[in-house]
Amino acid sequence: MARGQSAGEAHDWVTRAADDAIRHAQQRYGDDLGDHVITCASGASPSGPVHLGNLREFLTVHFVAEEIKRRGIPARHLHSWDDYDRFRKVPAGVDPSWSEHIGRPLSGVPDPWGCHESWAEHYKEPLVASLRELGVEMVEVSQTELYRAGTYREQILTAVRRRDEIEQVMARYRTKHLEGAAAAAPESEEEAAALADSVANDDESGLTGLGATDDLARFPFKPYCRDCGRDTTIITAYDETTTDLSYTCTACSYDGVTNLTTDNEGKLVWKVDWPMRWEFEGVDFEPGGVDHASPGSSYTVGKELVKLYGGRAPSFVGYSFVGAGGQVKMSSSRGGVPTAADALQILEAPVLRWLYVRRAPKQAFNVDFGAEVVRLYDEWDALGKKAGNPQKRDAQVLAFERASSTTSAGVLPTPAVVVPFKLLSSVADVTAGSAELISRIVGDVGHVHASVDELEPRLGKAMTWMSDFVPVEDRTTVRETPDAARLAALSEDEELWLRQLLDRLPDQLELESTTSLIYGVPKLARGLGLDDAPTDEVKQDQKAFFRLLYHLLVDAERGPRLPTLFLALGADRVRLLLTPPA
Ligand SMILES: [Zn+2]
Repeated sequence: MARGQSAGEAHDWVTRAADDAIRHAQQRYGDDLGDHVITCASGASPSGPVHLGNLREFLTVHFVAEEIKRRGIPARHLHSWDDYDRFRKVPAGVDPSWSEHIGRPLSGVPDPWGCHESWAEHYKEPLVASLRELGVEMVEVSQTELYRAGTYREQILTAVRRRDEIEQVMARYRTKHLEGAAAAAPESEEEAAALADSVANDDESGLTGLGATDDLARFPFKPYCRDCGRDTTIITAYDETTTDLSYTCTACSYDGVTNLTTDNEGKLVWKVDWPMRWEFEGVDFEPGGVDHASPGSSYTVGKELVKLYGGRAPSFVGYSFVGAGGQVKMSSSRGGVPTAADALQILEAPVLRWLYVRRAPKQAFNVDFGAEVVRLYDEWDALGKKAGNPQKRDAQVLAFERASSTTSAGVLPTPAVVVPFKLLSSVADVTAGSAELISRIVGDVGHVHASVDELEPRLGKAMTWMSDFVPVEDRTTVRETPDAARLAALSEDEELWLRQLLDRLPDQLELESTTSLIYGVPKLARGLGLDDAPTDEVKQDQKAFFRLLYHLLVDAERGPRLPTLFLALGADRVRLLLTPPA
């Protein structure tokens, strides 16, 4: 087998993306790659809560880097925080006075909630915590730090020196881009930003009265005002020999000069910044929202511009939207969109990873916080069983393996004893009780385990799902006191059923006998034995009997399985609620 080829017979999108990334590196470093480390890059602007759609950027890169490492080839996941991007607008829920920070870098805007150093840090930290739980390891770089340290000085000077060539490429795509933008709203933040930049530049080109010529208005570098820190600067002159860049700030009227060889006070415009970093970091693979690959988008333009730096665009995968379904309660500081942290409250890390790895990036999907969660866990548990059989290796099993372990962390936390999420959540629902109580009942219904710990992390997530995500009207409420009116108005059949049930109900309930008793009572009433097969009449009676039990126990048409409900309530409580008044 040639180096870099996939070992297994099963293939998926990750296999193909890893093949492409490796091929990209081989084109430069030769087939055996030497000791070259393949770079898979992600980027994100910490301008707001990093929602489940943004999470796809991180996880797409993570899975590809992991696949490369599994093949024995050194790889790294490099993540760039675009925290030197400008603060664009004040979101709802934030003091409107924050508008004075518009135009400042995200790393230079204070945290409105006062818990972090800056706006950027406020949104980075919770995501980094979630990524750690998800087993994602990455090398993080801050664009603020790199720009401020002058790391990109040569690259900036190159862009400025060759700005006419850049402008020719930009101009060729600008028309297409604006047409495209009119046809479809930008999907990603970068795309929206690029569009805003190009529109802003078009505005500025009209400001010749302030001394901006076309050449300077389309300058590839944007200084932050030395006086007020905003990027509301208009370039008024550039001296090729001294590299002095003169500007006027429209926000504070400051007239400044920044020297591109000695000062570090601004950044390249996004469409130049991105390809510059491909070359600087040696990026072999980088995904982006599907809109990035459209004509005139930043990837298409970047593919041309990266040549200025002697590089090639990385292999690229465009990914679609990820939404959320079900009811999600969130604090306003998170801006009303569900984040990875929200999903991890109810989904085991491997299950959340699985949602992202099992579908090709081009497929959009929702992370559902509602009733779908139960089905998702059932599917996952079934797949886990299938994966245990070495005869059954296919793309689904491959996705299971990618989701459940990483090269450095091994198998991610999963319960030692796997109990269906449906059972855990319905016992949590009925008892509204402690983990210890739920653990005891789950043991009684046949899932033997030594301690609560063996049910974690799933038990805690099931409890949280029931209390915080399932709407109150869908939860089970056990009656506090018997329904005296209904019990006084029982039909002859109903009275008989309840009497036969209570006569045989032991003090200590046990799953098998309780199940047989609940199903058997209508048989006894028709002269059959508990273990006899039900007749059609008995089946009708069973339906009516179960409806009566649900009504008397939880005041609803249906609820958790009756044997589970009985065991959760205990014999005393059941007896109390089912006994007619004397
Ligand atoms: Zn200013």
